[in-house]
Amino acid sequence: MRRRHLRIALLALTAMAGSVLMASAPAGADPTHSTASAGSKRSHLEDREAVGLVRIQLTGADMLDKVVAAGFDLEHGVKRVPTGIEAEAVLTAEQVAELQSMGVRILGGDEGFAWNEQADGGIRTAAKQTVQPLNHEQTVRVVRADWFTTKGQGFLYVEARTTEGQQADPVVQMQLENDSGVGTSFGFARTMSRFVDSGQYMFHRNLFKLDKRPSQIRVTSSTGGVTTGKVSDWLENAPPPLTDNPGYKSNFVDGYKTPQQLYGRAEEIARQYPDIAQIIYLPNQTNGYQRKAQATIGGTGESAVVVSSAAWGHEGGNDITVEFVDRAGANLPLSVEVTGKAIRVLLAKDASGALASTAAEVAAALETRSAGLIDRAHPYRTNAGTGIVAPSAPVALTDFLDQKRAGAPAGEVPRGPATIPVLRIGKHRDGTKPGVLIQAQDHAREWVPATTSLEAAERLVHNYKTDRETKKIVEDTDVFFILSNNPDGANYSFYNFASQRKNLTNHCPDENADPGRRDSWGVDLNRNYRVASGHDGYSGGSSVCTSGTYQGPEKLSEPEAKNIIWLVEKYRNIKFMMSVHSNGGQLFWQPGAYIADGRITTPRPPLGDEAFYWQSAGRILSQVKAYRETVVTPENVGGSSDVLYSSAGNVREDLYYTYGIYAFGWEVGGSVYNPATGNWQGGSFQPPWEGDPNLVSGHSETMEYANGIMEMFRVAADWGKDKKDPKSTLVPGGGKHRGPVDVRFETNEPATIYYTTDGSRPTLKSPRYEATDFREPGQVFHVTETTTFNWFSVDAAGNIERNYDPTKKDKRNNYRTATIKIVKK
Ligand SMILES: [Zn+2]
Repeated sequence: MRRRHLRIALLALTAMAGSVLMASAPAGADPTHSTASAGSKRSHLEDREAVGLVRIQLTGADMLDKVVAAGFDLEHGVKRVPTGIEAEAVLTAEQVAELQSMGVRILGGDEGFAWNEQADGGIRTAAKQTVQPLNHEQTVRVVRADWFTTKGQGFLYVEARTTEGQQADPVVQMQLENDSGVGTSFGFARTMSRFVDSGQYMFHRNLFKLDKRPSQIRVTSSTGGVTTGKVSDWLENAPPPLTDNPGYKSNFVDGYKTPQQLYGRAEEIARQYPDIAQIIYLPNQTNGYQRKAQATIGGTGESAVVVSSAAWGHEGGNDITVEFVDRAGANLPLSVEVTGKAIRVLLAKDASGALASTAAEVAAALETRSAGLIDRAHPYRTNAGTGIVAPSAPVALTDFLDQKRAGAPAGEVPRGPATIPVLRIGKHRDGTKPGVLIQAQDHAREWVPATTSLEAAERLVHNYKTDRETKKIVEDTDVFFILSNNPDGANYSFYNFASQRKNLTNHCPDENADPGRRDSWGVDLNRNYRVASGHDGYSGGSSVCTSGTYQGPEKLSEPEAKNIIWLVEKYRNIKFMMSVHSNGGQLFWQPGAYIADGRITTPRPPLGDEAFYWQSAGRILSQVKAYRETVVTPENVGGSSDVLYSSAGNVREDLYYTYGIYAFGWEVGGSVYNPATGNWQGGSFQPPWEGDPNLVSGHSETMEYANGIMEMFRVAADWGKDKKDPKSTLVPGGGKHRGPVDVRFETNEPATIYYTTDGSRPTLKSPRYEATDFREPGQVFHVTETTTFNWFSVDAAGNIERNYDPTKKDKRNNYRTATIKIVKK
């Protein structure tokens, strides 16, 4: 199959496909560290292992789990394909080999899945079915059929489900056809792709180019089911963006920003606009942009000793030297001399005058006899330290933090713990307006989420006085921006290692605590929360300290995660949250995690919440599209574990299930359709700021996704003003029917229905009206006996239909009721 999702970094390097590719260094970030301080000697063991960006293919979520659990960094750029999952990984050569031994395929530059753009004739055998309206007895349902256009090209995306989808032998085949507009006939038969995740059948799907918008599709299964469905518009006919308003100011951010720059600007905004902005300092300082000074000395393997200073590098650790001294003579004991910050280990000699101190013995002597300068010394990795240590000239310990490299952003990087400011913007910051938390850069290397959030903040304060819509946002919402929630990691990404994802906290035991592993330490902040945690068996968080998705030693172990909980508990008006990540072009909500065995997800949001999420997503993504026609496709929107993978212990699950906050996850900067080539071009973590404005560019992504954040504020403002109760109906309504009848509920806005069929009054404990299956509309009841439905609906803002009070018995009993009378023939 032809590959359509090309990625720029790989295109340029296809000659090296299959081998390790060096990650392209972004402007101002040198992927190699500077060498140790002059005059001292350093072992190659401390060298950063060369990493490269490699595209891989996994058979599915189960393999993804194994690979993540084994410590591989596979987040983002992950794509569901019918044959499994494709991803990009930052890997060493050794890791590439390890992955291959686990069964992972390394993809070459032109390999990978692409949807077939040509109709292939479909499944043929079952094509001549008579079309019938869908009913419960049939086996095929249309889940979604979305039409969208981008840059002059139309696309159709379809999901359909068969009740026999799980069947393995033979696997059920599904065929998709479409018409070419109202009244035209079906044609262009295609075989649909079966999507299986963690052993569970999900649905069949297809995405392809079309020049003319179809009105209907027809889906046929090889087991005989057939149904038709209407095609809906996806992000078509969006209202104009705020940036079209006369005099509206935008385009404030002029490049990538370090945490210091982001926080400095946040504080400046609060000073410049005190009537609408303020700073809240989060109470838990980070563990700090700081490291212990280290060296690996005395040889390799069994003979190597890993030494770490007691003090942080910048607080004196970097001044320490360690020398292993070979003295003349025989029968000499191991001893340690300390003069100021100079440590001399006098190695033991045996009776024949040969060196006799093992690495384990030297490590123990350093820990106990270095006058407190060294508090951690141990053999290298998994070695027991049985080798005889070789003498060494004085080695200067270093924290390896490089902060003055050529091309790096100007300014000192403050060492030590950081205090994270929250920029709060709103005219009424008294808890009466719906709060929206925008949390960017949990993952250090994701630079665009930070600039996107800053751009949205700038637009609010600059347009407040002059733009009516912006004024409404500032007056009707209470916005909390965390422009970077991982300042230590972000500084490491800017000044040391561009691909850093996690924070800088080193929780590793001795075997992974040597400085050669320093780029793999840290906690994945978006795996450190309490709900659906990896500590409770959910999939997608790792207990391996060097893993890209290391979940931390316990839930909320990290100050950055504790702060978020503190914030939403203190400001209870926060009802919306966006966790902004890159890159992928995805918009997520719950469920976002599952237990792999049986694929047990966190509870699905009630139908009203699900519909509200979809409605909000449509609004937000329409505004993204308005900037330069970037379309986040419906295949990448929804419950994140449905459309991507399970993320144990992520922040969204905690905020939604613990506090009832509508918690979105966003991967900005995803694929962009390039009409010149007819291909989709994938994104990257640190694209050139001024790249091709129509393709991958930090600037364009910042501007278009800031449009989306502004729309999220309007969603919250509308939600806060929504005092109108929802209306629901039973379709068809009550009355006489000859023979069994299929009924369902409809609502005039996103709302959840609670109902009874036993004549009792409905309460919040009554059965909830559910989707037929996930990503589908509400279920259909097949009524065969006379049945009375009693029900009420609740909208996303909590308004109850007819102001019915389901919590107490009131005489009015003004819930809705309808009786379906079945008249037997
Ligand atoms: Zn991320």
